[in-house]
Amino acid sequence: MARRNVIRMGHPLLRELAQPLTKEEILSSQDLIQDLFDTMAEEKGIGIAAPQIGISLQVAIIELPKENPRYPDVEESDTFVIFNPKITVLDATTQGYWEGCLSVPGLRGYVERPRKIYIEYLDQEANSQKIELEGFLATVFQHELDHLFGILYIDRVTDKTKLSFIEEFVQFHSENEQLEEDV
Ligand code: ZN
Repeated sequence: MARRNVIRMGHPLLRELAQPLTKEEILSSQDLIQDLFDTMAEEKGIGIAAPQIGISLQVAIIELPKENPRYPDVEESDTFVIFNPKITVLDATTQGYWEGCLSVPGLRGYVERPRKIYIEYLDQEANSQKIELEGFLATVFQHELDHLFGILYIDRVTDKTKLSFIEEFVQFHSENEQLEEDV
């Protein structure tokens, strides 16, 4: 299908609460899903949400690179298409990673998030799914799903001394836990 433009911080659509979809709308969203995959691949991300391509709908995709020891095996699939997610925190103890975002290019920021979550959602066949996530994956999913609720990771950077351009991140902070790809 097509690569779409990724909109950046400052665009008001990134701050909207995206709309949930009906099952019928999900089943007729296959072109949108393909555009998300095409755009994510082009931008070399591991996740992207519809608002990042200027569409205020509650859908995000996450694709974890295979054969990378940083990504522990997940049971069902390495690729997730997530509509209308509901997130429950199972363990509010926080964990921190340096994050980057396709919609905030050039920066890295240190974000602390709950370490264990539970997500209920509809997949691309509009079937109910649920998944429990912890560690690194819990952070990736929370970052991506925040986009559906108008939240950017920089909102969650509590220590502003840990907001950095990538070059300075590599120079001064790269020994810390990080997401290696933007999401
Ligand atoms: Zn992002």
